[in-house]
Order: sequence, then structure tokens, then C-alpha cells
Amino acid sequence: MNPQAKKHLSVYKNSDNFPQVDVLDGQGYVILLDSMGHDKRIASRARVKSEDTELYDKDAKLVRYMSDNQHTSPFEHVVFQFEVKAPIFVLRQWHRHRTWSYNEISARYSVLPEDFYVPALEMVGQQSKTNKQVRDLMLDMPTEYREKRTLELEQYRVACEQANALYKSLLASGWPRELARMVLPVSMFSKMVAQVNLHNLIHFLKLRLHEHAQIEIREYAKALAILAARVVPYTMGLVLYDLSQNPAYKMDSHESWTDHAIAKIFNKNPIQEPRAK
Ligand SMILES: Cc1cc2nc3c(=O)[nH]c(=O)nc-3n(C[C@H](O)[C@H](O)[C@H](O)COP(=O)(O)OP(=O)(O)OC[C@H]3O[C@@H](n4cnc5c(N)ncnc54)[C@H](O)[C@@H]3O)c2cc1C
Repeated sequence: MNPQAKKHLSVYKNSDNFPQVDVLDGQGYVILLDSMGHDKRIASRARVKSEDTELYDKDAKLVRYMSDNQHTSPFEHVVFQFEVKAPIFVLRQWHRHRTWSYNEISARYSVLPEDFYVPALEMVGQQSKTNKQVRDLMLDMPTEYREKRTLELEQYRVACEQANALYKSLLASGWPRELARMVLPVSMFSKMVAQVNLHNLIHFLKLRLHEHAQIEIREYAKALAILAARVVPYTMGLVLYDLSQNPAYKMDSHESWTDHAIAKIFNKNPIQEPRAK
């Protein structure tokens, strides 16, 4: 992974005091706007009881048992609300997940700012020869390749700027906003608020942290996991621990993201299955 991008994958409190994780070299972000529940809630709802919030060993064992045996409904009692700034092509993939609730800004209602995604040079890579849907990153870039990709990235940036200039000119000439936007590329950033329960979030993470998912949405999935771990550290630890045992979730050939994240979240290295307090 691009070392610059990695730097951004940590939680900080933003100016409105919400936990935020920056992604895509700080061009996009995920904010945890709200949440309902905690690790103990999952065990309590399974027992149909109102209990305190402390997660004891017996609760942790129950959560582990339910996670292993597809007893999923207690996980639906924990809910998250996120604000997301992402390129439109990422949001298109995200919106395939029908179990989330979404509200996205309307380009019929307001003018989109000139803000499009420019991948870091190291993150462009090339089309994989073994898998039709993914790309291979080139970690040790030969000079000629680096120069070629640098030039192409500049051409890409100019094309986005030209599209945006036409968008502005059509608006100035009186085109309706709902049609002027047709010239904009899917690299434009958009924003949404998205709500999901823990069961469906885990489903999303399993699909979008997988090595077959596009690198960009994988980065958003990582941010979601890191933020969710603030609310349900034990359960998220279990999920990430389980994924880390599967080679398909080793982020890149040179880095195991899940090991890194678990070590970070639980301050443990080497990784171990998380335990209740
Ligand atoms: C790596 C990757 C590549 C992909 N490539 C493509 C692609 O090329 N083209 C494309 O169109 N999509 C593609 N998708 C999207 C994929 O087909 C799913 O639409 C998306 O991952 C959402 O998954 P989901 O339906 O399980 O999630 P959700 O919509 O959140 O649904 C969760 C679960 O609820 C149930 N469910 C929800 N709605 C229904 C329903 N109407 N009927 C029955 N059960 C339902 C299912 O059990 C489902 O698994 C890709 C996804 C991934 C991860």
C-alpha cells in the first residue's frame, strides 16, 4: 500500500468532534455520525434481557458462538450512521448493498464542487493478467514506467478539469443542473449519509475487504471497520481476526492489512483472538 495512504487510516476527532478516518490520501473520508449499542447489547438481545454494558467472559463466549453459528439477529440491534465522501464510482458499488439506508447530495438541487479523485501514482498499477476484475500494483516501478504513468495521470487530471469547465459553462448558459452534470466523470466526489446495522456491516466488510473488491472501496471498508471498532471492539476484533485467517483478505502481497488493523485496534502484536475484559 502507498505509505501516504496508510498514514491517513487512523481515527481522529474532526472539527465537529466526530470520529473521522481519511481515505484515498485524504481526498475522501468516513465519519462516524452516530451509533446505537455496544458489544454487550448483542449478548443482551440474544437473552432478551436489559443488562449493563460491561462485556464479561460469558457474554464474549455467547457473541463468539452466535458469530460462528450464523445466529445473526442479535447483531442487528447495533446500528451505525456514517457520513461518507467518496468518488461516484465507489458510491455506485456501495449502493448495491441494499440493506443500508442512504441519502446522497443531489446534483439536481446543488452545483457539485470541482473535486475529483486522483489516484496516487503507486496506486495505478496495471490490468491484472490473471484476474479480469482487479489490477496489479507495481511496487518497484521502473523509471520509464513511472514517467509514463506520471504523464498519463496528468492527462487524466486535465480531462477531469475540462469536463468540469464544460459543466460550469453549461450551467452559466442556463442548462438545468440535472442535465449539465451529464458531462461529469464518475471520478467526481459525492457525499452521502449511510446507516447500517452490525449484521449487514459485517456482510459488507466480508465482500468489500476481499482481495477481489476494488482497492478504493476496500479502503473505505477498512475505515468502516476501524470506526465500528470504537463502538463494538470485541465483535469487530472477532470479525477481523477471522478474516485475517483467510489469505483472500491479505490486503496486498507486501502487507497484511487485517493483522495491522487488529494490532492497532487491540494494541496486540502478534494478533490473537480478542478477549473480554
Ligand atoms: C468483488 C465484487 C464484484 C462485483 N461485481 C459486480 C458486477 O460486475 N456487476 C454487478 O451488477 N454487481 C457486482 N457486484 C455487486 C454484487 O453482485 C452485490 O450486488 C453486492 O455485493 C451486494 O451484495 P448483497 O446483495 O449480498 O448485499 P445486500 O444488498 O446488502 O443484501 C444482503 C443480503 O440480503 C439478501 N437480499 C437482499 N436483497 C435481496 C433480494 N432482493 N432478494 C433476495 N435476497 C436479498 C441477500 O441474502 C443478500 O446477500 C460485485 C460485488 C463484489 C463484492
